Amino acid sequence: MKSACITGISGQTGSYLAEQLLEDGFKVYGLVRRSSTFGTERINHIYDNPNLELVYGDLADYSSLLSFIGDAKPDYFYNLGAMSHVRVSFDIPEYTFDVTGTGVLRCLEAIRKSSPKTKFLQASSTELFGSTPPPHNETAPFHPRSPYGVAKLAGYWATVNYREAYGLFAVNSISTNHESARRGETFVTRKITRAATRIRLGLQEKLALGNLESKRDWVHASDVTKAMRLIMDLNWADDFVVGSGEMHSVQEFLELVFSKLGLNWKEFVEFDPRFLRPSEVDALCADPSKLKKITGWEPKISFEKMVEDMIDHDMKLAEKEKLIEKNMP
Ligand code: NAP
Repeated sequence: MKSACITGISGQTGSYLAEQLLEDGFKVYGLVRRSSTFGTERINHIYDNPNLELVYGDLADYSSLLSFIGDAKPDYFYNLGAMSHVRVSFDIPEYTFDVTGTGVLRCLEAIRKSSPKTKFLQASSTELFGSTPPPHNETAPFHPRSPYGVAKLAGYWATVNYREAYGLFAVNSISTNHESARRGETFVTRKITRAATRIRLGLQEKLALGNLESKRDWVHASDVTKAMRLIMDLNWADDFVVGSGEMHSVQEFLELVFSKLGLNWKEFVEFDPRFLRPSEVDALCADPSKLKKITGWEPKISFEKMVEDMIDHDMKLAEKEKLIEKNMP
C-alpha cells in the first residue's frame, strides 16, 4: 500500500487531497496541530477511514516533523500547512516566516535525515510573482508583495535547493488562488458567498470589503490537488504553475454572486480600509501550459460552477441559521 503524509490536512486543500488519496487506496497520515477546539470539520467525513491516521505535530517544531516522517517513511509528502492568509501575514510577519517559510526547510531537512526516498511537494503560490504582470509561467520573475509571499518564496527556493544539493525528489506546485465551499470564511471569495446568502435571507445587512479591483485566477481546490498528484507522479522532479489561465476581478466575483441571488451588490457592499494591504498585488493569472503539455491536466470545474457550489453550500448554512433564529423564544 502506498502512503502519503499531508501537512495542512485540516485545511481547505488538504481535505480534498486526503479524500482523493484515500479513494485511491493510499494510507494517509495527516499532521494536525494541537488546538483548544477540534478544528477537524473539513475532514470529519473521512475521520473513521481505517487508512487515515492523524498525528499531532507543528511546522514550527522540527522534532515533531522528524518523528512524523521518520516513523511513517511515506512514499509521498505534501506540505500544505501554512499561515496562509496574505492580509494577516502583515500583522504576524515573524510567525508567518517561521511556519510558512522555515517550516518548509524543517520538512525537507527531516526528509533528508530520515526518509530521503520520500517524494516532497511544496504548496507554492503565484503570490511569488507579486507585482510582475501576468500571465505567470515558470520563468516569470518573482517579486512578492507580502510577508506571506516572501515566506513562500523562501519555501520555494528551499525546495529547489534540496533537490539540487541532495538529489531529493522535491517539487513546487505554484498554484493560483483556489477556492471551494471549504474555503476559510475570512478569505474574500468565501466572505462574499457567505455574506450574500445571509443578506438574501435577511440575516445580515452589509458586507465590508477592501480592494475590489484586484484580479485573480480562481480555480477549484479539488482541481489543484489533482494537479499536485500528477506532478508527484512524474519520473523527474520539476516545478509547475497551476491555474486556469482565466482572470476575474473581486468586483466581477461580487457581481456574479449577488446577481445569482437576485441582488444588486452595490446596495450592500461598503468599503473598509482595514481590509487593504500595505502593498497590494493587482493581478495574478497562471499560464499552466507546461503542466498541461506534460500531464494533460486542466481544471474540470469551471469558475461559474465553483461559484454556484459555494453559493449552494452557504445558502444551506444560512437557511439553518434562519431556522434557529425563527425558533428562538
Ligand atoms: P488553509 O485552509 O488556510 O489551511 C492551512 C492548513 O495549514 C491548515 O490545516 C492549518 O491547520 C495548517 N497549519 C497552519 N499553521 C500550521 C502549523 N504551524 N503547523 C502545522 N500546520 C499548520 O489553506 P489552503 O487554502 O488549504 O492552502 C493549502 C496550502 O496551499 C497552503 O500552504 C497555502 O499557503 C497554499 N496555497 C493556497 C492557495 C489558495 O488560494 N488556497 C494558493 C496558493 C498556495 P489549522 O486547521 O489548525 O489552522
